[in-house]
Amino acid sequence: MYLRRLCIAALMVVTAACSGQSDTNIDGTPLPDIDPATLQGLAKAAFGAERVGSQQSPAPIGSYAKGCVAGAEQLAETGPTWQAMRLSRNRNWGHPELIDFVQQLSRNAARQPGWNGIYVGDLSQPRGGPMLTGHSSHQIGLDADIWMLPAANLNLSATERENISSISTRRSSGAYTNASWTRAHHEIVKAAAQDSRTARIFIFPGAKVQMCNDEKGDRSWLRKVRPWYGHHYHFHVRLACPRGARGCVDQAAPPAGDGCADAQQWVSNILNPPPPAPSAPAPKPSREYTVADLPQQCSGVLRSR
Ligand SMILES: [Zn+2]
Repeated sequence: MYLRRLCIAALMVVTAACSGQSDTNIDGTPLPDIDPATLQGLAKAAFGAERVGSQQSPAPIGSYAKGCVAGAEQLAETGPTWQAMRLSRNRNWGHPELIDFVQQLSRNAARQPGWNGIYVGDLSQPRGGPMLTGHSSHQIGLDADIWMLPAANLNLSATERENISSISTRRSSGAYTNASWTRAHHEIVKAAAQDSRTARIFIFPGAKVQMCNDEKGDRSWLRKVRPWYGHHYHFHVRLACPRGARGCVDQAAPPAGDGCADAQQWVSNILNPPPPAPSAPAPKPSREYTVADLPQQCSGVLRSR
């Protein structure tokens, strides 16, 4: 309510900040026209070439797998309770809510035995958008990969951060956790899920079932933890669209309940794969997006200083 009143009061001055449109530079100066060739070019090439965030008011634009982010903030490469990994990728950028979330989670993780914080994998590119390699999501500055490797040493050099690997926490193709999975992982995933900003966490099915079995207290947070392919070297946190971010498209909420039966079904399907449905259509090859395919405001994000 307060925010709404603030926005109405400020309507004449900073419409962009309230609407999430962000179609001027941060100082209100208009953006230059976009080159038509850029509009028809591949979005991953255009966004992959950007080295810094846009000087616009922060706004996630579009959906997790088809969008971009205005005014992204860079996560410091090293903080008191985190280190960003694989610095050469320049993917330690996100909406300010995500940067704050990661720092908060790292402080929670630092309380776990053997953990002094977290190793942070990919967030987004400086202006979000599709990437040249990996991930179809992580496009709007609201997704973060958190390594399963306990962050014991927070003095890793840039070279070490390029070269060390995380650890897998699964066995039997993800049906079960392995000996590297600990109660600390449970507590860190739980802390991430209990943050009201979190919409979903993706993790391999065996970990979800393990947490379902081990959780003896409040189970409501388990609803946000969703079984998915891969995700045994890291778990993936997806924040909901921040309040008032109008150009941001939320994913539908997870089904009601703790989702434990669903995760158990995933495990059963890993252990006893069902035969493929004879009439299943061949999966469509996914088309690469051009800049013009993304929400129109994303070309503004590219044009901005
Ligand atoms: Zn991810």
